[in-house]
Amino acid sequence: MTDGARGPWFGEYGGAFAPETLMASLAELEQAWCSVGQSAEFGAELAGLLRDYAGRPTPMTHARRLSREVGCEVWLKREDLLHTGAHKLNNALGQALLAKQMGKTRILAETGAGQHGVATATACALLGLECVIYMGSVDAARQRPNLLRMELLGARVELVEHGQQTLKDAINEALRAWVSDPEAHYLLGSALGPHPFPALVAGFQQVIGQEARQQILAQAGELPDTVVACVGGGSNAIGIFRGFVDDEGVELVGVEAGGAGIASGQHAARFQGGVPGVLHGCRTWLLQDGDGQILPTHSVSAGLDYPAVGPEHAELLALGRAKYDTCDDDVALSAFDSLARLEGIIPALESSHALGWVIEHGAELQGRRVVINLSGRGDKDLDSVFALRGKEGQ
Ligand SMILES: *Cc1c(COP(=O)(O)O)cnc(C)c1O
Repeated sequence: MTDGARGPWFGEYGGAFAPETLMASLAELEQAWCSVGQSAEFGAELAGLLRDYAGRPTPMTHARRLSREVGCEVWLKREDLLHTGAHKLNNALGQALLAKQMGKTRILAETGAGQHGVATATACALLGLECVIYMGSVDAARQRPNLLRMELLGARVELVEHGQQTLKDAINEALRAWVSDPEAHYLLGSALGPHPFPALVAGFQQVIGQEARQQILAQAGELPDTVVACVGGGSNAIGIFRGFVDDEGVELVGVEAGGAGIASGQHAARFQGGVPGVLHGCRTWLLQDGDGQILPTHSVSAGLDYPAVGPEHAELLALGRAKYDTCDDDVALSAFDSLARLEGIIPALESSHALGWVIEHGAELQGRRVVINLSGRGDKDLDSVFALRGKEGQ
């Protein structure tokens, strides 16, 4: 179920660009991941938690009305039905269990919109671990219900008051906290950061792709032509891609946040609008200016609003094995409505980018079988969608 063999390098990308003071903690984590993390006992215990607590396997749903509308055969991998409402719990449970096996009693984590913070606080409550979450104060104000959820689950939320006071600053602060508290485990939320995190997180998310491959074969009788996922840091996408990466005939498409359009400069399209560089411990594609300053990002969905992307995606692009495109805010918002009305499923705004890309490219996908990773449910997004609509209506 896990894969300790990957990293630190994904082609020219990845690595571990971290301060000397973190190297011992990263090495300790890699060691645990390659030993305990690969053992049959650990695999069985995690599989039990995923099944009996989190609700795996998540279903594969044939979206028949949406298929008729778009003109291709659309299937949805239903991570929206996982406990806490998104794929993030796969990674949070995996890392929290590994940390516990390492003898750790305290977990540090960052969160942006709060989904990873909620998943981490949930895993810590379940496993009896102390939990400290770093969250930018701008995000905390925007995502108050998730802040309350984390506190209800027993976590302590530390507000980050510097920089843009959003996810990038929360990661900086969590890494800093880990330096001064090496006895804790830092539970990073996406397939990025210094080695071994990209490999570790992808290893915990690849269960999505393993299930999806079996399910589509059982339910449709054949492999899909195309697999589509939204790409923030890249964890839900790499999770589903890994299930199909060896099937050469299956096209893999990652969808980044096009925001208000690439030309506007207001987006989070690292591959289309960025350059290779180093951020948060790894070499990858990112949005920075000519002086190496990280650029502000924009997306209607908080989970895609991050200036860098996981290094395994940078390698898949370099190899020509996956392609990366964008979906703008307005297309994602209309896909959000379409899925609700046609299938009775309210998707996360992040996942709506993958849906929006498929709807927008219906003409070239005619007759193809397409699996979309529905990374999460959209209940969390209702306030922001209605606030946007309120503004538009004025
Ligand atoms: C956090 C989040 C994402 C983006 O993160 P990835 O690591 O790119 O998967 C996508 N969808 C949902 C529902 C999320 O909560």
